[in-house]
Amino acid sequence: MSDTLTLNRSETIPVVADCDVVVVGGGPAGQTAAVSAARNGANVVLCERYHHLGGMASGGQVLVLDDMVNPRYGSDLGPEIVTTGIVSEVVERMDRLDGAVFPPPEDCIKSWEMWKKWSRWGAIDFHQTGMPQPIIHAVAFDPDAWKRVALDLVREAGVNLRLHSWFSEALVEDGKITGVILQTKMGRQAVRAKMVIDATGDLDVAASAGAEFLTGQFIVTTVFRLADVDTDKATAFEYEHPEKYKKLDREARRVIGGAWGMWWLKTPLPGIVWCNCPHMPGYDGMSPEHMVAAEYEGRDRMQKLLHFARANIPGFENAKMLGAAEQMGIRQTRLLQGEYVVTKKDVTSRRWFEDSVCRGRDYYTPYRALLPKGIDNLIVAGRHYSVESDAQKTSREIPPCMSQGEAAGIAVVQALQAGVALRDVDVSGIQKQMRAQGADPGDQPASNALVQTTEEIEA
Ligand SMILES: Cc1cc2nc3c(=O)[nH]c(=O)nc-3n(C[C@H](O)[C@H](O)[C@H](O)COP(=O)(O)OP(=O)(O)OC[C@H]3O[C@@H](n4cnc5c(N)ncnc54)[C@H](O)[C@@H]3O)c2cc1C
Repeated sequence: MSDTLTLNRSETIPVVADCDVVVVGGGPAGQTAAVSAARNGANVVLCERYHHLGGMASGGQVLVLDDMVNPRYGSDLGPEIVTTGIVSEVVERMDRLDGAVFPPPEDCIKSWEMWKKWSRWGAIDFHQTGMPQPIIHAVAFDPDAWKRVALDLVREAGVNLRLHSWFSEALVEDGKITGVILQTKMGRQAVRAKMVIDATGDLDVAASAGAEFLTGQFIVTTVFRLADVDTDKATAFEYEHPEKYKKLDREARRVIGGAWGMWWLKTPLPGIVWCNCPHMPGYDGMSPEHMVAAEYEGRDRMQKLLHFARANIPGFENAKMLGAAEQMGIRQTRLLQGEYVVTKKDVTSRRWFEDSVCRGRDYYTPYRALLPKGIDNLIVAGRHYSVESDAQKTSREIPPCMSQGEAAGIAVVQALQAGVALRDVDVSGIQKQMRAQGADPGDQPASNALVQTTEEIEA
């Protein structure tokens, strides 16, 4: 675009809050960061552009919590659940609302019987290609249960929640952010803060404050749900007529235009299935023009799949479109290039870091990967953390993003208490507090971790 407009005007903006910590973005990472910081004694403001909390998990209808377990295959120790703390609390609360389904520990084995029982809940280790894939602790949940639980948690923690508030600008003075400006229906509003947590997923705050980042990209998806599906009939057909099923399933995935191994999964609501598809490459998740094009394309494709499934797949004869998620499924946009950039090798080799503050599956996240260079009081949490594009694709699931948020919430409070910049916080204090909150910071390497120095790895 060549045409530009320069505005030259003075502006007076109301300050609607003055706080210790402002968290921008109320997705899985942000809501967890806000609760963690508030429980540690901070006065916290949480700003979110939409009318609900949960980001991709609720508005984006990404309805399975993954990457919660280090499977430790080949060891007698068995699997370990690595994303605990506030993640476990959210799961327990959704379970109490009948909004979560997950396998009991005794079902988490490799057998055809358990595969048939749990695979359509998404509770399989999809990193394993051999069949049957092992059953693993993963959680299918209802988006409305998530929204309910998230609101309860922030209210109980005393967080000042500001929904319908779209971050637009960071106020920066001498390497510090002094506050953020939010766009609302009532005009622009300012929040002053001593510490800032960027949990926008797109690195909006850090980018506005001048932090270094790279612009990544991955497939985008208009996730949707279908109603009135006879899931018992569909799975019976799958197991009794595997060859016919495989042929139809291949065709369904061609019609939708790209999907993971299973294009439909069960949800806690009977007869309602979750479709984590289509895969649409080439779209920039921050461009309004691209997102409009993706909306058209995604809705055309899901309609075609519905027609195909109704006409051909047993169990889907009466299926109806329940609707696409409120938010477009964006997996990757800007990625911080901060104090440490996590590499693909770090993730795939299960590299352990001494300053690990949280875990996901069998990988570890160092504290430095949450810190931008050159800004003293800003920390990030979530899918835009400091990571290479390829490494982010396999380390961005909901539970590890929440664990990052939990650690970031602790870090900002400890920085305030010590009166130091975030990069000078004693990491062992964050690790200790994570443990006190029931979370696993990854300070102790698991038996299958790679414990090596950077020099040893590069040699
Ligand atoms: C289609 C799809 C399928 C996926 N499948 C899985 C899966 O099966 N299991 C799994 O665990 N993970 C899955 N993921 C990954 C996971 O959903 C995300 O990586 C995770 O939700 C990231 O959490 P987050 O809090 O960092 O970001 P987000 O969930 O993106 O949340 C960011 C929040 O910030 C808010 N925000 C953004 N910009 C602003 C602004 N300027 N002002 C105010 N608020 C703002 C947003 O509205 C949102 O609430 C999937 C992702 C997608 C897109």
